[in-house]
Amino acid sequence: MDPQSNPFLSIVIPIYNEEENIPTLWERLSRVLTEHFADPAHSWEVIFTDDGSRDRSLPMLVEIARTEPRVRVVEFNRNYGQHSAIFGAFAEVRGQVVVTLDADLQNPPEEIPKLVAKVEEGFDVVGGWRQGRTDNDSFFRTMPSKIVNAVTRKTTGVKLHDYGCMLRAYSREVVDAMLLCKERSSFIPALANSFARRITEVPVAHAERAAGESKYGVWKLINLQFDLLTSFSLLPLQMLSVFGVVTAGIGFLLFLGLVAYRFLHPEGTAQGVFTLFAILFFFVGCQFVAFGLLGEYIGRIYQEVRDRPRYMVRKVHQQK
Ligand code: UDP
Ligand code: MG
Repeated sequence: MDPQSNPFLSIVIPIYNEEENIPTLWERLSRVLTEHFADPAHSWEVIFTDDGSRDRSLPMLVEIARTEPRVRVVEFNRNYGQHSAIFGAFAEVRGQVVVTLDADLQNPPEEIPKLVAKVEEGFDVVGGWRQGRTDNDSFFRTMPSKIVNAVTRKTTGVKLHDYGCMLRAYSREVVDAMLLCKERSSFIPALANSFARRITEVPVAHAERAAGESKYGVWKLINLQFDLLTSFSLLPLQMLSVFGVVTAGIGFLLFLGLVAYRFLHPEGTAQGVFTLFAILFFFVGCQFVAFGLLGEYIGRIYQEVRDRPRYMVRKVHQQK
């Protein structure tokens, strides 16, 4: 069998405006690959997705693919986001083990062999668990990911420490299963776990972003959180119903109380008005939160029924 058409390992890297990082990334990555995966049984390929970069990332990647036959570049026609970019590359992978990592060198490529070894041991999904995230990751960056981790643990029921780390390895079966999922708002680490039989985590080093800026603002993170909440669980909807029943119960008791009060103190009926206002405002607020949450689900249903493609590939660049 031609090892090139059927490599052992596929590395997947989403790229969005990473021109400053690509040279170092490629240098370190190719060094790791040639050092650790030199024998024919461990042949490899690298698939970059250019997620509509506006800088020189695309020509730089195409140049790498021109000189290295084991590199392919999936070119998107515009920016679709990190997870779509990873999916775009997943559709191209041929390897038995698939590793994803970020281009900004926050995930050291030197950790790849560790993850691959775990998959060879028989695990379907191997997550990286970032060590020492105290560095320069600001409070506003680590706090949301702490919340994301906690909520994800609850909603998906899988107890991993770190869902945010994109340095991860998957067996081919899990990747194929994920490719069958057509939903738009998919958070890959959580999605992968729902198809995996054996999941593990390995501690990995974590660095600051080498150059350029993070593509995630607070808003994108909030969005990601809603994705997680709504695509993996109906619990929030069920909680709304429970909450409604409880409030209705309390309201009924209050009504009984007010009726009794009226009979006991026929002259003092106006006193309770402001308490009622307070209670009313509280519940009106709750209702809006509930509407919002329903809206999130409905909006997502709307996006699904339109059934637009998750991304459009303009071209796959590879050496002939
Ligand atoms: N990325 C992408 N499309 C986007 C945003 C990000 O392909 O719309 C890539 C980006 O180039 C990087 C990875 O996803 O390789 C992670 O992005 P970033 O470092 O900005 O995220 P953070 O580390 O801040 O979570
Ligand atoms: Mg980053």
